[in-house]
Amino acid sequence: MEQADVVIVGVGAAGLMAGIWAGRSTTGTPGAKIVALDGARSLGAKILVAGGGRCNVTHFEVDERAYAGTSRPMIGKVLRRFPVRRTVEFFEELDVHLKQEETGKLFPTTDRARDVLAALLTASRDAGVEIRFPWRVGSVEREGDGFVVREQAPGGTDVREIRARRVILATGGKALPKTGSDGAGYGIATGLGHSITERVFPALAPLVLPQGHFLMELSGVAAPATVEVRSGTGKRVASFSNALLCTHFGLSGPAALDVSRWWTASKAEDQGTRLIVNWLPGETPQSFDQSLLAQPAAGAMRPLRERLPERLAKALLGHAGIGLGERISNLSKERRAAMVAAVTELVVPVSGDRGYTYAEATAGGIPLSELDLGTMESKVCPGLHVCGEVCDVDGRVGGFNFQWAWASGHVAGVGAMRGFPPLG
Ligand SMILES: Cc1cc2nc3c(=O)[nH]c(=O)nc-3n(C[C@H](O)[C@H](O)[C@H](O)COP(=O)(O)OP(=O)(O)OC[C@H]3O[C@@H](n4cnc5c(N)ncnc54)[C@H](O)[C@@H]3O)c2cc1C
Repeated sequence: MEQADVVIVGVGAAGLMAGIWAGRSTTGTPGAKIVALDGARSLGAKILVAGGGRCNVTHFEVDERAYAGTSRPMIGKVLRRFPVRRTVEFFEELDVHLKQEETGKLFPTTDRARDVLAALLTASRDAGVEIRFPWRVGSVEREGDGFVVREQAPGGTDVREIRARRVILATGGKALPKTGSDGAGYGIATGLGHSITERVFPALAPLVLPQGHFLMELSGVAAPATVEVRSGTGKRVASFSNALLCTHFGLSGPAALDVSRWWTASKAEDQGTRLIVNWLPGETPQSFDQSLLAQPAAGAMRPLRERLPERLAKALLGHAGIGLGERISNLSKERRAAMVAAVTELVVPVSGDRGYTYAEATAGGIPLSELDLGTMESKVCPGLHVCGEVCDVDGRVGGFNFQWAWASGHVAGVGAMRGFPPLG
């Protein structure tokens, strides 16, 4: 049977990073054999589609507050081992120069995701990593101190096997399953003694509204908004201010994507969970009401016209039962309150999210508490290292998920080679 020092399962962002740093860490003890396997027919699909084909590689300011998962302090520990500055230097060295946009997102100056992927593949080759694909792993079994990595049998053909001294699991989550990230890694992890969080669900997913909701008629209209998840008792669970896009199925855009995992998690435990949209971020219902009272002679459209897209303003007034030409001074207290609520505290009924096919990340996975965060080595299965989205970590829109992949991949790659003489 073929032997390798390290087998990496999954050649996405995290697996590539782990391979590069495992390979680089063998300098001085050359000869280590590092093999990276991926089940997909072509590599790096998620890197290529990311950021609309431009690949939002990271964000200028990253810390654990932009993430959810096992525990933020634990996430922070790993992020600090490979901060954004190191990511920028790392890509610089690969000749991928990054530029920062107004939103804080960093993209390659060429605006081409394929440059990011090509650089990572070249760096992998330079670090001595043998990448093989399509090679879909069906199981990883413990054998003595090491592992046997076995191919998923493709219809009765011979199954390939590799004996590995260490394994790095970098199979990603379940988002965009057609890319090959379909959650198989969770089964591999549980087979080796790990647990998976009780709930695994789509994150950064567009939200679906019930048929006929008035916002769906505004398909294509986008506006800055504050989107909040509130519990049945009115407690704020999460809040994001960013662009919100109305679509034919419901809500999308960064504000909707960011809030989706909080809505799903809260709804699973509390049926009273509500989604509230404030179309005038920075205004409170009270301040907006005051501004209405300050212009009694104005028509109802006037305070909205300059601040909201016209179609949206008209639809919100329609929803509140207010005619476009109605004077503010003619509105009863109740009707003015309805207008204020529609604009600054719109309760939007959500039927669900669009699922993994449209999600950009996965919430849940392998708890970080089961890993040594200095090496990403499993505490329950020594010799197994874990990185990337298969962990119980999900970040906001803006380059945070890749930053987690780079940081955890780096720690796992270096960690897998620590104190490790190669087969020779
Ligand atoms: C449409 C879209 C756009 C995105 N845009 C951004 C962005 O701009 N910025 C950002 O930070 N994040 C973005 N993300 C999120 C980001 O792509 C992921 O968080 C990141 O790719 C996760 O890296 P990973 O290596 O852990 O997993 P993945 O990239 O999912 O890679 C896992 C790999 O493992 C392979 N694999 C799985 N199971 C097996 C098996 N059994 N055997 C062999 N191979 C296997 C898969 O084929 C895959 O290649 C986006 C995601 C999507 C879906």
